[in-house]
Amino acid sequence: MKYLVNLLFEIKLRAMEKTNLLGATLPELEDLMLELGEKEYKGRQLFKWLYNLQVSDFEQMTDLSQKLRKKLAERYFFVGIDAAEIASSADGTEKFLFRLVDNKLIESVLIPEGGKRTVCISSQVGCPLKCVFCATGLMGYDRDLTTGEIVGQLLFLRQRYGEDAFRNIVFMGMGEPLLNYSNLVKSIEIISSELGLSVSAKKITVSTVGITPQIHALADSDLKVNLAISLHAADDEKRRKIIPVARKYDLKKLMEAAVYFARQRKKRITFEYILFKDFNDSRRDAEMLAKLVEGIPCKINILAYNPIDNLPYRRPTDEEVDEFGRSLYPIAPAVTVRKSRGIDISAACGQLAGKAQKFEEDNAL
Ligand code: SF4
Repeated sequence: MKYLVNLLFEIKLRAMEKTNLLGATLPELEDLMLELGEKEYKGRQLFKWLYNLQVSDFEQMTDLSQKLRKKLAERYFFVGIDAAEIASSADGTEKFLFRLVDNKLIESVLIPEGGKRTVCISSQVGCPLKCVFCATGLMGYDRDLTTGEIVGQLLFLRQRYGEDAFRNIVFMGMGEPLLNYSNLVKSIEIISSELGLSVSAKKITVSTVGITPQIHALADSDLKVNLAISLHAADDEKRRKIIPVARKYDLKKLMEAAVYFARQRKKRITFEYILFKDFNDSRRDAEMLAKLVEGIPCKINILAYNPIDNLPYRRPTDEEVDEFGRSLYPIAPAVTVRKSRGIDISAACGQLAGKAQKFEEDNAL
């Protein structure tokens, strides 16, 4: 019920015409201080209280004057997002379903890996790209997340589990992050700032299905994040069958963008390859994949498909996944064969929100 109390609290504060500072960046808070007739550096202090120290009550911000604290409380508030449902898997994976202020649902997944945790966060409500194997794609697209809703997923986890809530962050939940570019950039600035969530950009990975203009933009930006590209097929014809946007951004453009990012950043790219039984798992597929990435500083993550209700795609056996990985080696570099996590809690992207949305539609008055 806590999420409902917070939601009502936020609605009440909005009705009082106060503004939620959740998602405000450092430059925005510095500007806000100037607008309030204060010194710019006070924006840095406020930024640190909100994101680093996670103090949302202005009264407790002891290095700000009483007058400023009162002024802030009269006009602003800082309320995060809350989980409406949490599902825990037998393998330790946890999935968080967040209900946003307009009643939309998004998800984050916390995945334990060798004593550390990786969090997979969402960037959009639904997704416009409609990849045919994806539960989020099936839901359609509603809207982009705000910067605050992106950062809010992480703040919630920090509040629940403390500083060690997660080590790595991947933008691999609901939505295509590069289609919500400005909020992606602003959220990464908050997350990676030492005064903010203080997570090194090296620990942050942006995962895309291949929006090539934004891959170039990200390569040219100041953000030192990692890039993962969802390939899932090594020839255009097969790729277009499962990723409709591949009709616009073909493999030639995508590989050029990948090489550009790797060169600009002097970083390895990660290529994600989901194995679908009898679709992209043959020896020929492995050979084409090895040829496609030849010469690109990269690693390949192979993942068995996590089956989704009402979709025809099937999961290969672990042995078949291992065999595909072995057939790539040693032609393609650093292949990691990963097992799907959280199958018992519908941990594939969009599954939990999709189920909740369907339940609500089925039970609508
Ligand atoms: S796989 Fe990613 S890009 Fe494709 S529909 Fe799902 S969320 Fe969107």
